[in-house]
Amino acid sequence: MNSIGVYIHIPFCKQKCPYCDFFSGSGSEIEYDRYVQATIQKIDYWAQLCDKQVSSIYFGGGTPSVIGTDRLCMLLDKIKSAFSVNDNAEITCEMNPESAKKIDFFKVKSHGFNRISFGLQSAIERELNALGRIHTAQDAKSAVERAKEAGFINISLDLMLGIPFQTEESLKKSIGFCAECRVTHVSSYLLKIEKGTPFYSNKEKLQFPDDDEQARLYMLTVDELERYGYCQYEISNFAQKGFEGRHNINYWKCGEYIGIGPSAHSFFDGKRFYYGRSMQDYYGRKIIDDGTGGDSEEYIMLALRLKEGLVFREYESRYGAPIPPESMEKIKNFAKHGFMEVDKNHAGFTKEGFLVSNSIISDLI
Ligand code: SF4
Repeated sequence: MNSIGVYIHIPFCKQKCPYCDFFSGSGSEIEYDRYVQATIQKIDYWAQLCDKQVSSIYFGGGTPSVIGTDRLCMLLDKIKSAFSVNDNAEITCEMNPESAKKIDFFKVKSHGFNRISFGLQSAIERELNALGRIHTAQDAKSAVERAKEAGFINISLDLMLGIPFQTEESLKKSIGFCAECRVTHVSSYLLKIEKGTPFYSNKEKLQFPDDDEQARLYMLTVDELERYGYCQYEISNFAQKGFEGRHNINYWKCGEYIGIGPSAHSFFDGKRFYYGRSMQDYYGRKIIDDGTGGDSEEYIMLALRLKEGLVFREYESRYGAPIPPESMEKIKNFAKHGFMEVDKNHAGFTKEGFLVSNSIISDLI
């Protein structure tokens, strides 16, 4: 039986961060209940269409922890009863260190969650304030400790690069903080200034690191995390051996997934679908057909986000032909210049290559 991932989007946050363009906003207890009921119906809808085994489940957002322990467990119970879920499925819940204070980690663990991802972003107070975050580094440390006490082993922390006031020294401290917390996984994303956000309107006033500084921060992140035993396995993701995030690896391997929630995307039976970015669309059951997906160009683009990159054997068995010779020639040329590594089994980016991966990928496909 083929496997599939399930993503549940929880579109609520206690407070909107000024850089965020995810579909999320504040909600009341009544709205949380309405949302959970609507999502339960949609889980039934998708489960009836799906004959694949679920190998990963991911609750993201927004801030899943704001809806509280019981609603999270209710949704997970529903997925487990409606779908065929693999016994070893990776089941992740994103949490904010502040709203995690109310979470009963013992209960979420007993219902089957086995991975927690906390949005730390930085361990430096000035940077957290600049990002408009409502938690402190100490909140994150306590949340990690509470999750561990309940038996969670697989815990991730998110870091952000390119925050106003961030320096190489301050970033080193944030990375050291992650290592001190002894988590198994760290994600590290570059802050993007998205149109329509308060950060975009104030971008001239805020002091963001420039492109060169961002590149230095990225290289430092890769080196520091590796020094602490976190190996890079994707452009922005690092893990201790055996703790790589399986749900997201499925995206990058162009595997299938069902996304439920406003703005959530699905890739199912070779086609792409998504829910619009509004509660009305979601409650109105409007699913937008986004055409076919998973062609060879998309596969190359996604696979190259992974450190192992393109595995030639996997590409050939999927598309019935080797990588086009003109693309192979270009890959070898990029390898000569130190941007890629290539051998008889695979081709992937070096850390210098990851910095310019967008332009290289658009040249390759
Ligand atoms: S907590 Fe996350 S999803 Fe919510 S507003 Fe902040 S960045 Fe966006």
